[in-house]
Amino acid sequence: MKEKIPTFIEIPRVSPREVPVAVRVLGWGEIYGQFDAGQGEEQAARCIDCGNPYCESKCPVHNYIPNWLKLVKEGRVFEAATLMHETNPLPEICGRVCPQDRLCEGDCTLNDGFGAVTIGSIEKDIVDLAFRQGWRPDLSKVKSTGRRVAIVGAGPAGLSAADRLARAGVAATVFDRYEEIGGLLTFGIPPFKLDKDIVRLRRRVLEAMGVEFRLGVEVGRDIGFDALLDRHDAVFVGTGAYREVAADLPGDSLPGVLPALPFLIANARRLLADGATADPQLDLRGKRVVVLGGGDTGMDCNRTAIRLGAASVTCVYRRDEANMPGSRREVKNAREEGVRFLFNRQPLTILGERRVNGLLVIETRLVADRNGRARPEAIAGSEETLPADAIIVAFGFRPSPPDWCASAGIELDESGRVVVGRAGRLPFQTTNPRVFAGGDNVRGADLVVRAVHDGREAAASIIKGFAAATIVAQRVQAE
Ligand code: FAD
Ligand code: SF4
Repeated sequence: MKEKIPTFIEIPRVSPREVPVAVRVLGWGEIYGQFDAGQGEEQAARCIDCGNPYCESKCPVHNYIPNWLKLVKEGRVFEAATLMHETNPLPEICGRVCPQDRLCEGDCTLNDGFGAVTIGSIEKDIVDLAFRQGWRPDLSKVKSTGRRVAIVGAGPAGLSAADRLARAGVAATVFDRYEEIGGLLTFGIPPFKLDKDIVRLRRRVLEAMGVEFRLGVEVGRDIGFDALLDRHDAVFVGTGAYREVAADLPGDSLPGVLPALPFLIANARRLLADGATADPQLDLRGKRVVVLGGGDTGMDCNRTAIRLGAASVTCVYRRDEANMPGSRREVKNAREEGVRFLFNRQPLTILGERRVNGLLVIETRLVADRNGRARPEAIAGSEETLPADAIIVAFGFRPSPPDWCASAGIELDESGRVVVGRAGRLPFQTTNPRVFAGGDNVRGADLVVRAVHDGREAAASIIKGFAAATIVAQRVQAE
């Protein structure tokens, strides 16, 4: 009799082993490990190849998920890694940081009582394994086109564009003001979600593909944008969104009030320097910390404060848990690590004289606005004071377009986002025909995987423009 192959009925959904809470809060390592031997193949075998892969449509880069799950199931690691890279230049990173519950796994056919296939974990596990076994992108058949493209910003948008250009024989030089590549992958997202060795490995892979990095170079300060246009056939701008939404509360300039990103960046730099730098804002030992905001940045601040030794961490959010904007997984992790959530509270005033000592909040109830979105409404007389020694403000980010956009003829919309893909233009082409853009500077603060998508598609447009000679013709005209 033929041996019956186990299916999703017999094999439950299993995620890679998590580091126990008591251990993980003592350090900065990633909290998810690898699958045990054979477990990745087994989990991949749960895919029923439903024929209408909603997971693929919901994945912003439209990964060929059922196809690579089949390769993983058959143990064909290198082929799976190659296929993963066809659509996603940074699969090991997206597998770690994508909010899969809202993307691929949320739309898996099995996410209906059986438990979605662990798509993200398989993606990162297989690429990690392929790298360990020596797999690298094969560019042996790529011929140089003689074209040169400058990329401003080494975040996921810029790295994704660099990968696609290198594969098409275009010389890509990436400029970044920071000392390491990755943008928010390195300086925003904490190491317990994404180990920085993973980003460093990706840097070596890209360098081996011929990508050049010019780090510690701010375009507009250390080199002019005009100079980039003069020396390259086209430029991709992936400069992100860095203008923090301010607390705008009485008392918000008191010492002890910390904007989220400088706080996270300072900690990232400290860890990159092996903990060697001492930054007073990072000394949260024994302090009562309040974090304002319920998004992913807020969760990262909560969990960072726990690891920095805070006596207590309270996350204040003005809506309820169901209306939180971030990944459910991150809320769960924060809660497990000891973060206390205070929902339906609107901050009113930051209290203190010489430095912060509390936060006045008011309770809210949710009422539906005209668009059906739950709007918080203050309940009169429900004010209360929360004691606090430090308050971290994580209300999100707005676009921060570089000053040179105006002189370079790069149009922005009313909120400061770079305008791309106007009628008659290629996708991700700006109003300057030799300049392309993507990621957070085009969308506003968003997700890594969408920045990866934009970099990939912008590179495709640049390559198309070169092939049709439209970009070169425009360059001659401009001169
Ligand atoms: P960035 O990653 O911001 O990179 C832009 C780069 O451009 C930076 O390196 C910057 O130094 C450089 N730059 C800017 N101006 C210049 C200049 N003039 N000259 C030279 N270089 C310049 N998304 C997820 O999917 N999952 C998560 O878990 C997640 N967590 C997050 C946590 C935090 C704390 C934050 C802030 C964001 C998080 N995000 C997450 C969002 C995600 O990080 C961003 O959407 C993504 O990094 C955007 O990519 P990007 O390439 O457009 O910009
Ligand atoms: Fe899912 Fe993100 Fe991977 Fe797409 S890139 S399959 S959304 S984890």
